[in-house]
Formats: sequence, structure tokens, C-alpha cells
Amino acid sequence: MNLKDINAVKALLSQPQKIVIVPHKNPDGDAIGSTLGLWHYLKNSKQEAVIIAPNDYPKFLKWMPGNEHILNFEKENAQARKAIDEATLVFTLDFNHLGRIGEMQSFLEASEAKFIMIDHHQAPSDYAEITYSDVSMSSTCEMVFNFIGFLDDTDTITKEIANCLYTGIMTDTGSFKFSSTTGRTHQVVAELIHKGAENTTIHNKIYDTNSPSRLHLLGCALKNMVILEEYKTAYITLSQEELDTYNYKKGDTEGFVNYGLTLEKIRFAVIFIENKEEGIIKISFRSEGDFSVNQFARNHFSGGGHDNAAGGKSDVSIPETTAHFVSLLEQYKKVLNS
Ligand code: 5GP
Ligand code: MN
Repeated sequence: MNLKDINAVKALLSQPQKIVIVPHKNPDGDAIGSTLGLWHYLKNSKQEAVIIAPNDYPKFLKWMPGNEHILNFEKENAQARKAIDEATLVFTLDFNHLGRIGEMQSFLEASEAKFIMIDHHQAPSDYAEITYSDVSMSSTCEMVFNFIGFLDDTDTITKEIANCLYTGIMTDTGSFKFSSTTGRTHQVVAELIHKGAENTTIHNKIYDTNSPSRLHLLGCALKNMVILEEYKTAYITLSQEELDTYNYKKGDTEGFVNYGLTLEKIRFAVIFIENKEEGIIKISFRSEGDFSVNQFARNHFSGGGHDNAAGGKSDVSIPETTAHFVSLLEQYKKVLNS
């Protein structure tokens, strides 16, 4: 953030504001961790603030301090719309175009509030008065830590804030192993542990809460995996019927896509998950090295994200979607094999 923006934020926060904080639809650990971390900070600075999630999110994220105060736009619609109506300041976290918040989009577009974006995805759009966008960042949580620092308030980071921010950095970096993890990321994490983040407990709460049905669903997913060695690609499919068989709950497929990349020669891993209710196939893309799944998702599956982790969707059936997907690979054969 440049000095002009920092001063503009300081001026805004020197006045009492009615603040709405928004993560993207289907929020992940970074989205919930960063919104809650910022929420605690603003509340502690005597601001009135509320988080509105566009929809529900997995149980393994619901233990973070302050979670019970998050409004779900789908379930608490009237209350959420009132808060948006009255807002003087809106923070959007972990996304950078308003198409990522589903039904909430039109309500935020109609708002007269000032907007502040904090985000680490590529190609930010320009809806915000203040845009803190940095694709080199491991996570939005790392950016919220920086943001509090820009406001000279690092000393006010409490154990609650530290726990929330640690969670998002951990989940978005694959537990500090993705290439987005920098020396600075480790410094921030060290600082958060000093401030009380319970690293081992957080790890257990996120990763060690499996249900037997989720492990059986994972077994099904791994059985369905198709390996295309000539393209260094592996993909998984999960139909709605399979999800139903294994009593699918939101969040159960989190991380499944990464198994493809654990194969020695595979550099591009994909999972296609049918969602009958929304009438779409939700797709997650992951890569190792130079192949940009952000570009691939943008070009072919109405999506986007980061160079090595992106998402998208398809409106046709799983067999049609995977056939189309496989037909696209020939044009990327060179880069996938380089
Ligand atoms: P995931 O595969 O875990 O849902 O998402 C991977 C990354 O891609 C995340 O950073 C997520 O925000 C982004 N992403 C997922 N789905 C979409 C999408 O439909 N559009 C865009 N622009 N980004 C997405
Ligand atoms: Mn993120």
C-alpha cells in the first residue's frame, strides 16, 4: 500500500464508520481467517463492524473466535441487507471482482459506501476506492497483518487476531509448502505465534477432524482418478450420486485435488465436482511449475485464481466436461512437458 492510501485509510478509520466485511462465496480458511482477523481489529478499535459471508462454509472453519457473529447472506438475508444498506465502509477480502460473491453482488454495487479491497489474486477490477492488491502475497491473512502494521497497530494484535490470521496463512500455503511461502511469510507467522497463535491446535482443528464418510469419499475420488501421463495430468471426478452415497457435507472435498500432484510425474491436477442444485460442475485446478492454471481457468472454464491454484466451472455434464478438458490438453503439451 502506498503512503497516500495508508493516510486515506487512517483518515477513514479516525471517524466512526459502519463497516461491512465481505469474503468470497464458498469462503475458505484464508477468507474466513482474514475477515475475522480484521473484524477483531476493527472492533477493538471501537468501530462498528459486521462480517457477511455470501453463503455457508465448512464446519472445520467454524471454530475461529468471533465465528458466531458472521452473518450468512442466504440465511440471515434481511439482517445482512440492512447492514449493507447502512454501511459507510465496505472491506472486500480475498477476492477482487464482485462476481465472486454471488447474489450479494447487486446489493454491494448499489451501496454508496467507500470500498477497500485487500486481496492477492491476479487482475483486480477497480470497484474500490482503496485497492491493496499484491499477487506476491501468500494469503490475504498475511496482507491483513501488513495492513494493521501500515496503521502502526501491530502492537494491538491479540491472541484472537493471531489465531485467525495464522489459520488463513496455513491453509493458503498448504501448511507453508507452496511457492508463495516467503521468508516474510515465516516472519509473520513467527510474530503471530509470539502473539499467541496456537499453531498445533489450529492444525488439528483444520486437518484432523475427518469423518469416516469423508475418508470413504476420498477413496471413491482416488479410484476415479484418471492419469494422462503424456500430458503430465491427473484428474478426478465426483458425481452428485457419489457425493450423496458418501453423505457429502460442505468442505468434504477440500484438498482432494492435491493428491494428483503427489504422483511423481504429474504437474497438472484437476477435480470436477458435480453440483446438481446449482446445475454446474465446479472445477479446481492445481499445478506445479510454470503452467498457469489461472490462465487456463480464465481461458476455458470461466474462472481464475493464482498461477498454481485456480477454480472454474462448466455448465455441461461431467463426461462432456472432461471430454472437452482432455481435448484442450494437446495445445498445452509442450509447456506441461517442459
Ligand atoms: P479452489 O479450487 O480451492 O476453490 O480455488 C483455488 C483458487 O482459485 C482460490 O484462490 C479461489 O479464490 C480461486 N477460484 C476458485 N474458483 C474460482 C472462480 O470460479 N473464479 C475465480 N476468478 N477464481 C476462483
Ligand atoms: Mn486467499
